Amino acid sequence: MSRPVQAVIDLQALRNNLQVVRRTAPASRVWSVVKANAYGHGIDRIWRALEGTDGFAMLNLEEAILLRERGWKGPILMLEGFFHADELPLFDKYRLTSSIHSNWQLKALQDARLHAPLDVYLKINSGMNRLGFLPQRVPGIWRQLRELANVGDITLMAHFANAEHPDGITDAVARIGQASEGLECPRSLANSAATLWHPEVQADWVRPGIILYGASPSGQWQDVANSGIRPVMTLTSQIIAIQTLQAGDCVGYGSRYCASQEQRIGIVACGYADGYPRLAPTGTPVMVDGIRTGTVGAISMDMLTVDLTPCPHAGIGTPVELWGNEVKIDEVASAAGTVGYELMCALAPRVPVVTV
Ligand SMILES: *Cc1c(COP(=O)(O)O)cnc(C)c1O
Repeated sequence: MSRPVQAVIDLQALRNNLQVVRRTAPASRVWSVVKANAYGHGIDRIWRALEGTDGFAMLNLEEAILLRERGWKGPILMLEGFFHADELPLFDKYRLTSSIHSNWQLKALQDARLHAPLDVYLKINSGMNRLGFLPQRVPGIWRQLRELANVGDITLMAHFANAEHPDGITDAVARIGQASEGLECPRSLANSAATLWHPEVQADWVRPGIILYGASPSGQWQDVANSGIRPVMTLTSQIIAIQTLQAGDCVGYGSRYCASQEQRIGIVACGYADGYPRLAPTGTPVMVDGIRTGTVGAISMDMLTVDLTPCPHAGIGTPVELWGNEVKIDEVASAAGTVGYELMCALAPRVPVVTV
């Protein structure tokens, strides 16, 4: 028997979540966002469950090439485009749609020798101020792109900074309107939050990421609890030792938790080197044998400790769910001051993964 920590990836949940996106945005095509190795789920492991998508969006060339080598023939959108002009022959060879967010990319595209024109996504800076052209420059850039023999279809793209708030996209929508005035071309604007909560901007292509994996773009599970999406990743382990603390006994590094009366605690084979957040405080929810309890004391590299008061029958080998269908990854993340995105992306390579 090996160390019991394990991540289970539920491909049926992934298919279900794509269907939820389809129902939510019935008039839009769907870029399934699989950047960061499919948000930590493993792109090679999961992409076939998303085969019903219209396209895959990502940003690593290696991941895009992998999809092509595995047989995906549909569109692939590189969300940040090429990082250097010398990648253009590969964009050409593998037929990758490129975001164009900066002048130098325009120039590089103009100078490239390609076998066929590349489709591009012209990125509008709608207020996030990371990538893209200011609205007043977009029509001019669009016309320049239109002139280039190396450019095929042009789609306008923007990305919202605050789509999880009810009034969070108003300014951005005004800037997008300014940028696209008079331009006849498709648009792709909506991440998960906008797809769910601002249907008026679903436009031609939506770009959901986090909801495909069954977590909330707002960080709060209750915001998506009625949407029909289901968690894809479950992190499980087992109890490997039991301690009975007496009043005043403390547990773990820094003695950050001390018992006020006799208390049974379970030692679980999972720690921050597996991707569990070190900053999770005492009381972070965890399921032990189907019963909800909480962590006690510091999270160590390879272990964490849980209160067994509500689970008197728990013993060595009792199964523990760190996050998944019962304890939502958003709950653990918010207890630790982060978001589900970070936890799923941080699943450590040492954790064995099985798909079901
Ligand atoms: C990551 C990303 C998305 C997906 O965002 P979610 O919040 O995970 O839905 C969409 N568009 C762009 C440009 C992105 O970088």
